[in-house]
Amino acid sequence: MLEPFAAQVMALEANYLRVRLDHPGPDGRRLLLCTRRARLAHGGLKVMVGDRVGVEGCDWVEGRAAVGSLEPRRNQLQRPALANVDQVLVVMALAQPAIDPESLSRFLLSAETAGAEVIPVLSKADLVSDQQQWLDRLVGWGYQALAISRHDPAGLAALEDRLSRGVAVLCGPSGVGKSSLLNALVPELQLRTAAVSGKLQRGRHTTRHVELHDLPAGGLLADTPGFNRPELPADPELVAQLFPEIRQQLEAGVRCRFRNCRHLQEPGCGLQRQWERYPSYVELMG
Ligand code: GDP
Ligand code: ZN
Repeated sequence: MLEPFAAQVMALEANYLRVRLDHPGPDGRRLLLCTRRARLAHGGLKVMVGDRVGVEGCDWVEGRAAVGSLEPRRNQLQRPALANVDQVLVVMALAQPAIDPESLSRFLLSAETAGAEVIPVLSKADLVSDQQQWLDRLVGWGYQALAISRHDPAGLAALEDRLSRGVAVLCGPSGVGKSSLLNALVPELQLRTAAVSGKLQRGRHTTRHVELHDLPAGGLLADTPGFNRPELPADPELVAQLFPEIRQQLEAGVRCRFRNCRHLQEPGCGLQRQWERYPSYVELMG
């Protein structure tokens, strides 16, 4: 193996970056504590968690190295500050509180702005008897959603299967079970939670910065949930891209007469308009 080694930034710690090598080092080590090479600063870019980097000067005994290069980002989130996100899990409870379709739709549209795969995760499935109704409804919105509950290992396993690659992040309103899900998916966090429970934190883990954690079945999960107040782009040009219902039709080769068609009621618009969220789309384009 020749330096530099490809790696991903897992956490920022004061003056250090914790990185994970794509391929383990000679002694099987994957995690290294790194300084930044001075030339990194010249690019003017701050390294973020999730960044793909080149690592050099490895000291395999001490587990130290230096980050010498930064690869261009595929995408980036602001809250939490995270680069190269592959999947955004939008968590909504099937009950307590019951799903508000408007709010779910907004969260999904906001998640789509990341340019990553969006997966609706319907939590607290143990509290309802008709989860299929929502799963079917979401198919109409263009999503293969998952229903989970902490009492159902099979649902959790199905979610882990969908996650086993790249960087994932949770988002959703408070109270839907995001922390519970994080703890269920990342064994490391359970340990930390146990360590602080009994003190003032009431079992909440206390990281202030986002950190990526290895999932047992593969993939990385951010330990800080994203946006709980979803925001949408002001530019109507971008709105159509946030609806899978529209994307899928365009990918399937639907043609409109005009190149910059807004898919409202233009003559020669080829878009089929018989889908549940079409009125929301029209409203957003208002
Ligand atoms: P967060 O605010 O999204 O992080 O939600 P929490 O993880 O703190 O959970 C909010 C509440 O929902 C807590 O009282 C949890 O005990 C409860 N909860 C979480 N997951 C489940 C579940 O699968 N089923 C049920 N019935 N309750 C759950
Ligand atoms: Zn059109």
